[in-house]
Amino acid sequence: MNLSLFRSLATGVMSFVLMNTHALADDAAVLATIDTNQEAQVSLLEELVNQNSGTLNIEGVRAVGEIFDREFTAIGFKTDWIDMPAAMKRGGHFVATRKFGPGPHVLLVGHLDTVFEPDSSFQQFTREDDVIKGPGIADMKGGDTVILFALKALIETNSINAGTVTVFFTGDEESVGKPGDRARREFIKAGKAADVALNFEGGSNEWAVIGRRGSSSWTVEVTAKRAHSSGIFNDNVGAGAAFELSRILNRFYGEVRGPKGLTFNPGIMAAGTTVDTGATPYDQTAYGKSNVVAQTAVARGGLRFMNAEQLEAARERMRGIVEDSLPHTSATIRFSDAYPAMEVTPENEALLDKLNAVHSRLGIEPAKSFPPERRGAADISFIAPFVTSMDGLGVSGNGSHTPREATTVTSVKEATRRAALLISDLLSE
Ligand SMILES: [Zn+2]
Repeated sequence: MNLSLFRSLATGVMSFVLMNTHALADDAAVLATIDTNQEAQVSLLEELVNQNSGTLNIEGVRAVGEIFDREFTAIGFKTDWIDMPAAMKRGGHFVATRKFGPGPHVLLVGHLDTVFEPDSSFQQFTREDDVIKGPGIADMKGGDTVILFALKALIETNSINAGTVTVFFTGDEESVGKPGDRARREFIKAGKAADVALNFEGGSNEWAVIGRRGSSSWTVEVTAKRAHSSGIFNDNVGAGAAFELSRILNRFYGEVRGPKGLTFNPGIMAAGTTVDTGATPYDQTAYGKSNVVAQTAVARGGLRFMNAEQLEAARERMRGIVEDSLPHTSATIRFSDAYPAMEVTPENEALLDKLNAVHSRLGIEPAKSFPPERRGAADISFIAPFVTSMDGLGVSGNGSHTPREATTVTSVKEATRRAALLISDLLSE
C-alpha cells in the first residue's frame, strides 16, 4: 500500500469515527430527554384515550384535535383545523407545521379517531405495571404521541436546524368520509408537498411497512330471458341469469386469479326472477321459482392488489370474461376505487435502510419489510403514489379494534426513540 492511499484511508476512517461519535453524542441527549418526558407522554396518552373519539363522534374527534392543538402550539408549530362539509358527518383533520430552515419536508401522519363510538363499553385508560390499555391506545393515539414526543425531544435538545415538518392527523381513518376524494383532498396535497412521509400506525421493531395492498370493489349485473324452465338451453331462451353469473365467477376464479398479491372475493350474490338490491349494497333479496328461468343476477365483491398495473390488468380480464356472454344473456361489471396500493418502490426500500441505520445505533436488529399482501390498506396508501413512504412506526399493540386493545409503556418509549432519530436523520439530509 502506498503512503498517500494509506493516509486517505486513515482520514476516511477518522472522519467516519468523528461523524459517528458526533451522531451518538446527539443521540444520547435526545434519548435522555425522551426518558425524562416519558411520564408526561403516558399522562397525555391517558388524557387522549379518555376522550372518546369514535369516527362518528364529531365533537369527540374535535376535542382530541384540541388537545393536539395545545401540545403542538407549545412546541412552536403553526396549527390548523380542516373542516369537512356537514353532509359528510366527519370531524375534520388536524394539521401542524413548523419550518426549521431550508431542507427536506417531512410529513408525519396519524389519526384522531377510533372504532369505539360513545356507546361502546370500552372507554377508559387503565395501567397495570408496563401494560396500558384503552380504546385507540395502539390504533393509534399511542402513535400520535410518538410523533409529538419525538419532535418535543428533538426541539428541546436543539437537534433540528433544517427542513420543515408537517403533522397531519386525519379524523376519519377508521371510516373514511364520502366522497373519498373530498375526505382526502388536503391530505393528498400535503403528501405531494412532502419529500418523505412516515405513518405511525401500530408497528414493531421487527417489521416496517413499505408496501400495502390497495383495495377496491366491483359489481356484476346480469340480465337474461325470463321463461318457463322447460325452455332453458333452447335457441329462444338461452342459459338464464344464474348460469351466466356462475360462468363469470368460475372464469374469474380460473383466469384472473394468479398474480402474487391479487385477491378478489365475491362477498354476496343473488339470482332469480327479481333481485332487490335493498337499501345498502350488503343487503340483497332474491325471488324466483324453480320452474322459471332466472331473469336477473347480481354479485358484489372486493379486489385487493399490489400496484396500479396489476389492478388494471385484472379489471381488463374481468371485463373480457363478462362480455363473453352465454346465449340470451348480457352482463355488465362496474368497478369502484377505495385505496390505491402502496407499492414497494426503490425509494421506500432506501427509506427502510435509513430506519435500519437508526436501529443499528440503538442496538436493535434490522427491521424487515412486512409482506404487503398481508397488510390492509391505510391512510398512507392515499399519498404513497406521490411520496416516499413508510408505515408501522407506531407502538406495538395487540387487540386493536377490540375491548382488549393494549400496548406497553416500554413500546411507547422504544417507538419514540427510533422515531426521533429517524426524523432527525431525514431532516438533516
Ligand atoms: Zn389506525
